Amino acid sequence: MLKDQDRIFTNIYGFQSWGIDAAMKRGDWDGTKDILAKGQDWIIDQMKESGLRGRGGAGFPTGVKWSFMPKESKDGRPSYLVINADESEPGTCKDREIMRHDPQKLVEGALIAGYAMRAKAAYIYVRGEFYLEAERLNAAVAQAYEKGFLGKNACGSGYDFDVYVHRGAGAYICGEETALIESLEGKKGQPRLKPPFPANVGVFGCPTTVNNVESIAVAPTILRRGASWFAGLGRPNNTGTKIFCISGHVNTPCNVEEEMGIPLRELIEKHAGGVRGGWDNLLAVIPGGSSVPLLPKSICDDVLMDFDSLKEVKSGLGTAAVIVMDKTTDIVKAIARLSYFYKHESCGQCTPCREGTGWMWRVMERLAVGQAEKEEIDMLLDVTKQVEGHTICALGDAAAWPIQGLIRHFRPEIERRIDVYHGRQIEAAE
Ligand code: SF4
Repeated sequence: MLKDQDRIFTNIYGFQSWGIDAAMKRGDWDGTKDILAKGQDWIIDQMKESGLRGRGGAGFPTGVKWSFMPKESKDGRPSYLVINADESEPGTCKDREIMRHDPQKLVEGALIAGYAMRAKAAYIYVRGEFYLEAERLNAAVAQAYEKGFLGKNACGSGYDFDVYVHRGAGAYICGEETALIESLEGKKGQPRLKPPFPANVGVFGCPTTVNNVESIAVAPTILRRGASWFAGLGRPNNTGTKIFCISGHVNTPCNVEEEMGIPLRELIEKHAGGVRGGWDNLLAVIPGGSSVPLLPKSICDDVLMDFDSLKEVKSGLGTAAVIVMDKTTDIVKAIARLSYFYKHESCGQCTPCREGTGWMWRVMERLAVGQAEKEEIDMLLDVTKQVEGHTICALGDAAAWPIQGLIRHFRPEIERRIDVYHGRQIEAAE
């Protein structure tokens, strides 16, 4: 279990004030000028050495991502940092708490990350429904300006840097980085075809890096305490700490910062009061937000919570939103409900996703009540494979994977429902 002294988010539950003076007492903005004085290359090298992988879901190494940004502008275009605070993945509620209770970690991280990639400014794109969080961030940014930490000669570094808070309008797809960029530019939030990648052509046609809130908010502590400290936590290639959001059929749902690689069972039992009715009452867990395949109890017994361990069992860490389902759950209906979500949130731009998500949802609704033929299970699986990897953005994959996980682990349950349904039809005919 993570020791208290290794926690990065010391006010994640809001027991203390979120204001800048209290945040500074907790260590925020301590020695920031000295960190900046060490230079861009040093910061990026430290981030690479720390092994931090993006906390928004994809798990791409953060330092490597920063290094893609141009070292100098050859054509007069400025660079930008965009922070993705459009947290909308079902089950995920970690960035929300950072913005509510520990916003200075994000603001300080924005300056350091922006400086490291020679950005002119940072835009924090906040989910439309996060009214309070946007207000809080605006206040936190204003406090940082008042202290001289942002703006001209930010932190006395000789570097000018601005931070803007921008509210979205409540579309899940705007969490996809290029849709977010479109939306930030005032257009309809639809993903762009890549290439060009944002590091070359991002917001306003300029080089841009889009990072998740948690990835940016942990950066100042990593640089203060040292890359080796962060790399010493967790497991190789899966370093550091992570905020896990535990919801569903547990006794005490919570957000908790833990070491990467903690066993799933330990995470649930130590921090969320255990599964309702005990561990044996567990049916399945979605370990990383609604877009990753579920895991049945037999795998949950031993699996570790990190990128590589979950990939080995054909799931993913995603946003580390752990959705726990006990044996009272109608598992087919639960996944059918997720299918509806993806159908609803598809931007409609590409055919496999626009048509496929609706098709998959309609079949899932019938499977939930058994009103189908058994051959349709393989047909559905085939459609998920036609959608997966054939769309502009990852929403298509996200719609396909939960269904693939369901069929992989609960096919007998789907078939049982079909048998029961047809049995009833025969009985009714007699
Ligand atoms: Fe839009 Fe879906 Fe295509 Fe993504 S995969 S661009 S959400 S239609």
